[in-house]
Amino acid sequence: MRSIILIAPPAAGKGTQSDMLVEKYGFAHISTGDMLREVAKTDEVIKSKLENGELISDDIVFDLLQKRLEQDDCKKGFILDGFPRNVNQAKRYDQIVDELGISSNVVIYLDVDKETALKRIVGRVSCPNCHRVFNDMIDEAMPKVSGKCDDCGSELIRRTDDNSETFGKRYDVYINNTAPLIDYYSEEGILYKVDSRMGKDEIFGVIENILGGIND
Ligand code: ADP
Repeated sequence: MRSIILIAPPAAGKGTQSDMLVEKYGFAHISTGDMLREVAKTDEVIKSKLENGELISDDIVFDLLQKRLEQDDCKKGFILDGFPRNVNQAKRYDQIVDELGISSNVVIYLDVDKETALKRIVGRVSCPNCHRVFNDMIDEAMPKVSGKCDDCGSELIRRTDDNSETFGKRYDVYINNTAPLIDYYSEEGILYKVDSRMGKDEIFGVIENILGGIND
């Protein structure tokens, strides 16, 4: 069983690369952000934290993750998009890796500067039904029909935390909490850095080469 962790600043392209990996390799896509946005529909506390760009407690996130990992589609392998978000989550996840007998745990770090990430966030729209991500300001990422999902035709929506103010907070949270994971996983020897200022297909090509060079 393969586990692929994507680490990146907000809006660096984790969701887009996850979709491409799912399509090519049939891995399950586990986005803690998507799961939490689902919970936020009925939970005001989580809703307001998401809108403020704050992290949700590790216990809540682990509860959701563990239930998700029990589902059948994870048996072949899965992509963790947005998890772990801090060193504590990474340490707890290392225990899960042992318990589940995961044969290959790889961390892909999508490196992108703050300005590029901000540009990507301003135009980002996504499908509430199948979660595919588009960008109405970047030619190659635009939906074929404006405002509609290419895959399922649903009306695309803009996330309430995708504005420049919340982006600033999310970026700070990333630098303080998530960026330390780069050292953590470098020391474990499983981190691969990818320059993510390129287009999505070029980034995907680099990720495919990395995965191709690692045995399951
Ligand atoms: P992005 O990749 O654009 O930063 P995500 O969809 O991954 O967005 O996450 C959106 C929000 O969900 C985060 O700002 C945070 O509030 C919450 N969140 C997502 N994953 C985690 C996690 N592993 N731990 C704590 N909070 C999380």
